[in-house]
Amino acid sequence: QPILEMKNINKAFNGITVLNKVNFSVKKGEVHALMGGNGAGKSTLMKILTGVYTADSGDILIEGKPVSIKSFDDAKANKISMIFQEFSLVPTLTVAQNIFLTREDKTSLGLLNDKECEKKTEVLLKELGVDIRPSDVVQNLGVGYWQMTEIAKALSQEAKILIMDEPTSSLTQTETEVLFKFINQLKAKGYAIIYISHRMDEIFEICDRITILRDGQYITTEDCSETDLDTVIQYIVGQEFDQAFE
Ligand code: ADP
Ligand code: MG
Ligand code: MG
Repeated sequence: QPILEMKNINKAFNGITVLNKVNFSVKKGEVHALMGGNGAGKSTLMKILTGVYTADSGDILIEGKPVSIKSFDDAKANKISMIFQEFSLVPTLTVAQNIFLTREDKTSLGLLNDKECEKKTEVLLKELGVDIRPSDVVQNLGVGYWQMTEIAKALSQEAKILIMDEPTSSLTQTETEVLFKFINQLKAKGYAIIYISHRMDEIFEICDRITILRDGQYITTEDCSETDLDTVIQYIVGQEFDQAFE
């Protein structure tokens, strides 16, 4: 059973359909690419999943149960977390301070002091296999580690479904490799990752399946091990692909 299913999702803005009966489903321990040209509807679908927009019709199921996601808090309650490209971290604070900044148990336990935050963060980072220290100041870390801090923060809030939008766009090759190692560890732990990217080489390296949207339509879901680059490009661009070579 998939951890997440979006079924027959419809969405229009001002009478113009941008998602038409879109289906999307993700399994535990899977990295699932969401692909499509500019305007295909990827961001809109993810905004519906995170409660920024509400679908006009269609269902969202988490572990088989229908849920209603009308706000970011609803998404959070359903263990869905968006890893923002513009990280929500405060660069002058430590990794531990950032992770605990918005946590409810910070206040419910009384303000945790830095030592307590660091201790808890150390356990979390170790569990996740992230090679940074809780006391590291974020701005002194490479941008690849900002990303991992951001992910660690989401996981500390019990997220099970992570949405990563162009996660490598500001990373070097080395940082990308570190991130992919980390993503593979998350996979092994059963997290589900929705991976939005245009970089085909990366998608074939890190993803298990690909769902393709075109002009707001669901086109197909393919197993990465059973498809190839040309097939995927063909699905993404549709007929224009043939026309371009006529
Ligand atoms: P993608 O992320 O695949 O590039 P989007 O989901 O951003 O695609 O956009 C899909 C379509 O929906 C586009 O035609 C876009 O102009 C339109 N759209 C997205 N958000 C809005 C909005 N808030 N109001 C009106 N149109 C929108
Ligand atoms: Mg776009
Ligand atoms: Mg987009």
